[in-house]
Amino acid sequence: MKKKIIARAIVVSALLMLNSCAANTDKDNTEVIADDKKTSGSVFAMDTYMTVTAYGDNGKKGIEAAQKEITRLEKLWSVTDENSEIYAIDHSGGAEVPISTETEELLDFAIDMHSRTNGALDITLYPVLRAWGFTTGEYRVPDDDEISSLLECKGVDRIKAGDGKASVPENTEIDLGAIAKGSAGDAAAKALKEQGVTSALLDLGGNIQTVGDSKPDGTKWKVGIRDPFGEGSIGTLTIGECAVITSGGYERFFEMDGLIYKHILDPETGRPAESGLASVTIIGNEGRMCDALSTSLYVMGLDDACGYWRENHDFDMILVNDKGVVYVTEGISESFSPNVDDVTVVER
Ligand code: AMP
Ligand code: MG
Repeated sequence: MKKKIIARAIVVSALLMLNSCAANTDKDNTEVIADDKKTSGSVFAMDTYMTVTAYGDNGKKGIEAAQKEITRLEKLWSVTDENSEIYAIDHSGGAEVPISTETEELLDFAIDMHSRTNGALDITLYPVLRAWGFTTGEYRVPDDDEISSLLECKGVDRIKAGDGKASVPENTEIDLGAIAKGSAGDAAAKALKEQGVTSALLDLGGNIQTVGDSKPDGTKWKVGIRDPFGEGSIGTLTIGECAVITSGGYERFFEMDGLIYKHILDPETGRPAESGLASVTIIGNEGRMCDALSTSLYVMGLDDACGYWRENHDFDMILVNDKGVVYVTEGISESFSPNVDDVTVVER
């Protein structure tokens, strides 16, 4: 079999301008750069380059608290770090292991979102993702028998979590890759606020979360929505305090024998979701909810995603289909300035 790895992209948004004064890097691989009005910091965590920009006073303290929080959560939720709580659950041979409140809450949330999305979000796909090589970059196409036998081990109903403990049966493995970044963004935004920061922008590998409705000068945040077919953007969204989180096949995929395989799997088939969508951007108040929905509505496809949006009124979305047609829900259609002609407004 001829194998060609096309991309494993770390998407870094071009929205943030880092200032070049007084840089200082610490042992956690974090960096804070400051000038009078704006403070920026970066951290590499969850396989992603993340930047935080805080405006006004307390920026440095706020950013350090946000960086610490992101690093702390990565240590709890990493699927590969042998000291993480998720690793402990996955490798305990079925025995219960102690977990923190944060992990218990996120597991409960994932289980709830699994049922709300009719199974499209499933955090027990790790063995299937591994078989495809998405966990290592050593890509391959597993055969039907292998996929079927791995699918027998999936199922969020196999997760037991409660009273500070969690377990999964042997051969079942949890991976929070679809929701961890959004959740870390929520925690980082809270940490910034606790340090008195009232205006900040977090860029977690292209996923944006803001603190405050605007910059101190009163201008709203502007976020470019990435073109899933190229390096440019399909338009700009003007937002207040919220999260803007995108899932796209372009973020991780490989080509083999002329076919493209993307990293978001349909839990029913154990194969890359072929839903007709190229990217899904969710805009809402809570990062973890937006992250869960970006992945699961990508799996659902246009019609079911619009159906889900019509029944759930706590988010808006921008969908791009395989042909490049852009769909924007009516709640944000006024605040989205497209760079492309083909835009359809989705109504309730
Ligand atoms: P995101 O970038 O938030 O859409 O998350 C994608 C990541 O979640 C993938 O790289 C996998 O690790 C994992 N994943 C893939 N498909 C699913 C799915 N259907 N449900 C939950 N996690 C998934
Ligand atoms: Mg997600």
